[in-house]
Amino acid sequence: MSDQVRDAVVRTQVGIVGAGPAGLTLAQLLARRGIESVIVENRSREYVEARIRAGVLEQGSVDVLTEAGVGGRLAREGLRHDGIYLQWPEERHQLNFPALCGRSVWIYGQTEVVKDLIAARLADGQELFFEVADTAVHDVESERPSITFADAGGAARRVECDVVVGADGFHGVSRDVLQSQLAESRRRTWQRDYPFAWLGILADVAPSTDELIYAWHPNGFALNSMRSPTVTRLYLQVDPAERLEDWSDDRIWDELGTRLGVPGWTLQTGPVTDRSITPMRSFVSTPMRHGRLFLAGDAAHIVPPTGAKGLNLALLDVTLLATALEAFFTDKREDLLDSYSDDALAQVWRRTHFSWWMTTMLHAHGDDFDHQLQIAQLRYVTSSEAAATSLAENYTGMPLPPER
Ligand SMILES: Cc1cc2nc3c(=O)[nH]c(=O)nc-3n(C[C@H](O)[C@H](O)[C@H](O)COP(=O)(O)OP(=O)(O)OC[C@H]3O[C@@H](n4cnc5c(N)ncnc54)[C@H](O)[C@@H]3O)c2cc1C
Repeated sequence: MSDQVRDAVVRTQVGIVGAGPAGLTLAQLLARRGIESVIVENRSREYVEARIRAGVLEQGSVDVLTEAGVGGRLAREGLRHDGIYLQWPEERHQLNFPALCGRSVWIYGQTEVVKDLIAARLADGQELFFEVADTAVHDVESERPSITFADAGGAARRVECDVVVGADGFHGVSRDVLQSQLAESRRRTWQRDYPFAWLGILADVAPSTDELIYAWHPNGFALNSMRSPTVTRLYLQVDPAERLEDWSDDRIWDELGTRLGVPGWTLQTGPVTDRSITPMRSFVSTPMRHGRLFLAGDAAHIVPPTGAKGLNLALLDVTLLATALEAFFTDKREDLLDSYSDDALAQVWRRTHFSWWMTTMLHAHGDDFDHQLQIAQLRYVTSSEAAATSLAENYTGMPLPPER
């Protein structure tokens, strides 16, 4: 083998495609257990760190990030929220999570989670290739699968490993590799496209609320969220065909004021620093494992953001996977790898149901009968302790089943 070819081949235990929250957290959890990994990511570090997405962490996710060694800034700067507001015209009600189910949630942007994880990985001197191209996954039915790609300089590279984890999000390559190896009878995808999208903005203004406001309104749903004491995150339900250029700042703030308004409360406005329109979809692909290829996070499932579950689910997957890989590498046990797909999917379907349920309760789309049902459901959830507890325990995250 020439020196050039040898340099192009990296040998590791776990090859990870994707440096999003799933891939980065898994790599940190593995490092803590003495298991080596290499991550390949097709975007730049700056791009990945600036991608505005989730911001609500379940207590279980905070615990996982702390175990992964990145809980310091999160503990200092994260905002603990003990509830949410549910609202419909003229009425706003608070649900108090600790009183209902003994847990809280934390506000800490996905951008910050990703920055902390990348900094920790690089500080440990662990391999992380940014700006790769042509990622491909090979030989997943063998005991020596591999990942090939062109690195940032254009050189061909190969990562040889014992296990490949596809943590490359909804548009990655891993899910297709996994599905293409399986007979039609053994693979399946479920998808629900909702007839609306979210127009999201980030604004440099202190939040007008102490906790998130989920507002049902006949014009459409609105959400008043936040990322820090000085940055507000707001969403409007819009038609998926809406164009961003048709929404001026004034139009966005006016509509937010209408949908979020209740007597005696004012929405503070400020400079908009980011805006986007995101389609709403539920998607699950099964199984989440074939041979030595495992899927984690958005690569295997997508939920609409109404339940704030996507990032949390990605962290749940990799928590299961880290435990299973530790059993595999340390004790030569394969039972947890064998049950990974079923164990993860149990969590996925619970949160898929909750995300669908929140979405269905809160998004108005033109049918007066449905609107009456939605208001009736909101009144029930805010007046019945049993119904409120059900929402609270799902929103804050059902605990993982005990480890086997
Ligand atoms: C607008 C919006 C708002 C959201 N709000 C919330 C919320 O409030 N709460 C919540 O819990 N979740 C929320 N989510 C969902 C959450 O952001 C995702 O579930 C989360 O990012 C999933 O993490 P992941 O690591 O699985 O995937 P990703 O974050 O998508 O990471 C995958 C990584 O793989 C890389 N990649 C892709 N293809 C390749 C390839 N071929 N080769 C190498 N690398 C590749 C990508 O560049 C990316 O860095 C939101 C999502 C969006 C879009």
